[in-house]
Amino acid sequence: MNLTELNGHYGTEDKCRELLKRLRWPEGVTCPRCKSKTVSRLFTQSKFECSDCRYQFSVMAGTVFNDSHLPLTQWFLATLLLCEAKKGMSACQIQRTVGLGSYKTAWYLCHRIRAAMKEASKPMLDGTVEMDETYVGGKNKGRGRVARLDNKEIVIGIRQRNGDLRFFHSADVKAGTLAQYIRENVSEDVDVIMTDDFSSYQFAMKRAGVEPKKHKTINHSGKVYVMGDVHTNSVESAFSLLKRGIMGTWHKISAKHLPAYLEEMEFRFNRRKRSDLFLDTLRHMVTAPVLTFKKLIT
Ligand SMILES: [Zn+2]
Repeated sequence: MNLTELNGHYGTEDKCRELLKRLRWPEGVTCPRCKSKTVSRLFTQSKFECSDCRYQFSVMAGTVFNDSHLPLTQWFLATLLLCEAKKGMSACQIQRTVGLGSYKTAWYLCHRIRAAMKEASKPMLDGTVEMDETYVGGKNKGRGRVARLDNKEIVIGIRQRNGDLRFFHSADVKAGTLAQYIRENVSEDVDVIMTDDFSSYQFAMKRAGVEPKKHKTINHSGKVYVMGDVHTNSVESAFSLLKRGIMGTWHKISAKHLPAYLEEMEFRFNRRKRSDLFLDTLRHMVTAPVLTFKKLIT
């Protein structure tokens, strides 16, 4: 999807609503309250009425679009921009490009789109898996683990080589914490897990029940970065995208919203080769729950 196609296919409110209807109810319109399929269209075109419980609803009711006064064409444009920007896009940029009245409106809009960029269930990673951690935010320019005490946030990355990525905002890099990420995200049948030689990984593998022969390490502390096929370059390239996104487009993000940004990066990254990224994002948006402004700021 590009801007020209977006304008051609979804240039009016009716066309946008029609698409959302198909994405939300592929099997036909269903009442959100009582699940009845006996639903009639009201003459205003934009609402439906349930014949059983008499509930009147729009396609946006009970989704991230809930109660929005913005035209759907602006929602669609902002969604396309967020989908197409590999490193993400700041609310400020979205405000200018979409032509929104205030920064607050843009910020809330971006957060609602972002809230939908989330997977309900994620398959376990398999094959060759790389795991590493990085530090984002904070004022200290220091690098690596020595800088972690200085208000930086820890992000754990796990990536199946040539496959999916997972990002986590972690409280620490203790073996027990890392072991839990492994148990919850890596298949028991994994071929090999590659990490650097940070000792926590050694203990984490043991705790997670990974056989020692399935854990390969690269000696980063000895300045070795690739040994045969043992490296963590795939997960590191995802980290560099994340960091360029944080530095270049989001400027500074609060620890509170970091998990949502991580989900957004992960969502887009795991769909980077799919041609239906835009439609799939809209499908998530029209099936995701309401996110109120109040909930976002408290
Ligand atoms: Zn009903």
